[in-house]
Amino acid sequence: MDQQSVFKFIALGIFLVFFFVAERLRPSAPLIHERGRLISNAGLWASVLPISPLFVVPISLWASQYALWQRPDWWSGGHGLLLDLVLLDFWIYWMHRTFHVVPFFWRFHEIHHRDETLDATSAVRFHFGEVMISASVRCGFIILLAVPFSSVILFETIAALSAIFQHSNVKMPRQFERIVSWFLVTPSIHWIHHHQRREDTDSNYCNIFSWWDLVFGTRSKTVRTPELPIGLDYTRDISLLQLIVKPFRKRER
Ligand SMILES: [Zn+2]
Repeated sequence: MDQQSVFKFIALGIFLVFFFVAERLRPSAPLIHERGRLISNAGLWASVLPISPLFVVPISLWASQYALWQRPDWWSGGHGLLLDLVLLDFWIYWMHRTFHVVPFFWRFHEIHHRDETLDATSAVRFHFGEVMISASVRCGFIILLAVPFSSVILFETIAALSAIFQHSNVKMPRQFERIVSWFLVTPSIHWIHHHQRREDTDSNYCNIFSWWDLVFGTRSKTVRTPELPIGLDYTRDISLLQLIVKPFRKRER
């Protein structure tokens, strides 16, 4: 495993433990279905963990070495890296929207949305198929924009930390969250994306920066409350084994 991936893994672990403990000491919404969903989330994460070093990292590295063009000098250094983070986040916003709209992609993404409440572990609840599809399609973006591998790994690290933060169930000072939400996706924004109401599920797609929903008109006006029903309006959560095989079976939606 390369050094950057090791750093990402350690940062992710520390963040996950911190929020996992904090949200049990000071929860914002009631903690429900703890045991079953924690087993599912941990199991899905375990199935995704080897995908990163065995698939995501190699194909991203490959794509970054086959850039279509040479970047100009101004697109380098710290501001070049910042521009890459914004562009990759823009890409993920549209990728996420696509996962909601294209039925084949939704089969995999709905595994994430079947969680019936949210906490830090929801951030690692993804089907390995979604991770592989997302990384494969992103290769085209990396090649097209000549994105360096270091930018991709840094983006993935920040995106993973952001995911833990925005899924977390920690009660935060309202004013703090309001100010942070001007720039970044907070739990108050992302929990609405997991609201059972279909119109809300198909809104608030942002990943790190919170402005894309405002720019493209997908920000929901619904306000998060502790009683907000989480999950999908047409189905319930299922066991870990069923979650893994579900995308390959007959479609419900
Ligand atoms: Zn989604």
